[in-house]
Parts: sequence; C-alpha cells; structure tokens
Amino acid sequence: MTTVGILGGGQLARMLALSGASLGLRFQVMDTAADACAGQFAPLLVGDYRDEAALAEFAGKVDVATFDFENVPAESAHWLAGRVPVFPNPAALALTQDRLAEKTLFRQLDIPVPDFADVATRAQLDAAVARIGTPCILKTRRLGYDGKGQFRIKSLADVDAAWDALGAQAETVGLILEGFVAFQRELSVVAVRGRDGEFRAWPLTENWHVDGVLSASLAPARVDASLHATALSHARAIAERLGYVGVFALELFCRDGELLANELAPRVHNSGHWTIEGAETSQFQNHLRAVLGLPLGDTAVRGVVGMLNWIGAMPDAAPVLSAVGGHWHDYGKQSRDGRKVGHATLRADEAEALAQRLADVGEALGRQAQVAPVVARLREA
Ligand code: AMP
Repeated sequence: MTTVGILGGGQLARMLALSGASLGLRFQVMDTAADACAGQFAPLLVGDYRDEAALAEFAGKVDVATFDFENVPAESAHWLAGRVPVFPNPAALALTQDRLAEKTLFRQLDIPVPDFADVATRAQLDAAVARIGTPCILKTRRLGYDGKGQFRIKSLADVDAAWDALGAQAETVGLILEGFVAFQRELSVVAVRGRDGEFRAWPLTENWHVDGVLSASLAPARVDASLHATALSHARAIAERLGYVGVFALELFCRDGELLANELAPRVHNSGHWTIEGAETSQFQNHLRAVLGLPLGDTAVRGVVGMLNWIGAMPDAAPVLSAVGGHWHDYGKQSRDGRKVGHATLRADEAEALAQRLADVGEALGRQAQVAPVVARLREA
C-alpha cells in the first residue's frame, strides 16, 4: 500500500486524494489549519511547515511527498527530500516562489515575458517606472497569489501610493515591477512530466479573471494551431530545464498574437479543473501517476469544456446538476469573501451546445456576467 504525502490540505489536495482512490493509494495531508478541507478525505497532520518534529512525523508516514501549495518553505522541502522522494524537486519549487527568478529563467529560455525590473528601494522604483513606463504593476516577488501583493500604477501620480502599499515588503519578500500587458486573452498550459521525462500537455485553456482571481475557463482555447504549439513548447522547455516531475501550469498573456509568460504554478492548477470530467485523464490523476513513476494517461479533451469558479459562497447546485454535461464540485469549505469554495464543469460535444448550457446555467443562477465572456468566445465566428 503506497501513501502519498501532500503538503497543503486545500481543495487541490482534496481532489488529488479523490482521484488517487482509483489507484488504490492512501494519502497523508499536512496543513497549518485544523479545518483544511482535504482532511475530510485523508488523515490530516496539523503543523507548521517549519517545525522539524512535525515534518519528521509526516515523512515517517509517507512513501513520496508532493504539494498542493507552492509557498511551502523551500528549506522545508529540501529537508523532507533528504528523507523521502519529493516531487516536484525542491529547487523547482524554490524557483517558482520568486517571480524575479522565474521571469529570468523564462528569458534565458527565449520565452517572451512582460518587461520587468527588480525593485529594492524607492529610487529603484522611480528608475524602473521611468524605464518601463506606465501603466505598470508593482508585485511582491514572493508569497503573492490570486492578485494579492500587487499594486497597479496607472500613471506617475500612483507611484507614491504603490510604495506606501508595498514598499515595506521590499526587504522581506522583495518587489518586482512589470509592464502592464494589454492582452486580449489569458491562456494557460497545464502539463505533466513523468519521472522518466515523458511530457504531455492538455489542450490550451483560456481563462478569465475577476479581481485577480480565476472566474471561468474554456478548453480547448480557440486559438490557432501555431500559437497552441508555441505555448506547449514553452511549457516543455521549462519542465525540461527544471527536471520537473508532476503537473504544473504555465500562465500566459496573448497580446496581438504574441505569447508572454506570466508565471508558473508548480502544482495542479485551477485552470486544469475541467480535466476531471473533460479530459480522458485528469490533471490530478496524471500528477499522481507522475510522482509515482506510473505510465501517464491520455490528455485528450472530450469535446468542449467550460469551468466556472465559485468564489465566497456556493450557489444553488440544481441548475448544474440537472444540466446535460453538468458536474458539481463543492470543496466542503466555510463561506468566506474571496475564498474558492467550489466549481462547476459543463461539457458538450460541440461549441454551440456548450454556449447554450453555460448561458442557461448563468441565467438560472443570476450569474450572466460570469458566463458571458465564455459564451461570447464560443459564439465567435
Ligand atoms: P498573477 O498573480 O501574476 O497571476 O496576476 C493575477 C492577474 O493579474 C493575472 O491573471 C492578470 O489578469 C493580471 N496581471 C498580472 N500581471 C499582469 C501584467 N503584467 N499585465 C497585465 N495584467 C496582469
């Protein structure tokens, strides 16, 4: 009996555990919160990731360890890797924790990125804004997620406010200034690399964010084949350079037909949730197969798939449960503003059928605005 350890016990760990049940796996989750929602399906060890005694207890219970959370301290991942196999490797995890290191790597691999600059002082911020120009975005290098730790600088008049908001973090987590990309689309590649180096990617996904948080996804993204191939080759180049094992997501902006890399998430990703019902093999199943050294599954999409995120509180389940091709996911979390509490996936064999199903669900739930961009994309000529 193999036990997979997961650092981080949120919905990603929960969906990994649910998927791994069919492989006969056991799980051990570790989280700092006693009510972490993966704990409803797997034994949960509550502890701080920096606590060696807790990590040692975790290591003693698992055959292999992975993450549902990229901000596990890199030193903790290294420490653990001295005791059990850890995938993805701690060096890859550490690199993706730092936006500056990540963008520097993308550039080394000839992957276009938004213009960026390291910012350690107020003077460097002024110089960076002068060079990059406005609009631009000041971000923390580390520990930011879902649009948190970011300040948009629309004009020079905003620089003071940006420094007031984030300047104190220049010495702790570091800051990076990025040029604002006036993109037409946000895309992501969700991909997997096995222990033997085999690489597979699901079809490109288009994503819509509201207030920096993912709101809806559509797969396959309706982009031309050459863009699709370029995105996948970027993902492959990064995975190979990092010796990456497991699932990851590469987030991209598409501006005037050009792809710019935003960030890499070293884990299963919200923009890949559609793969549970919409692909032959889900991202969760393939992540487990990768970290265990098992053969990877087919990543082909089954028709056309839309995913809607539920943020803050769960809506009424009935319209999705009764929809043809409708699938419901409630993460078993308490409602809280801004929190990801669940999602729905809608699947159809062709675009217009999916557009109609999404429009119907949006109407029934009073969420027309959430489904509108996806429906519009599906109905474009
Ligand atoms: P991030 O935490 O970097 O993924 O940013 C969250 C969201 O903010 C992204 O999905 C974009 O919608 C937006 N965003 C982040 N960086 C930029 C940028 N350089 N230009 C335009 N929009 C951005």
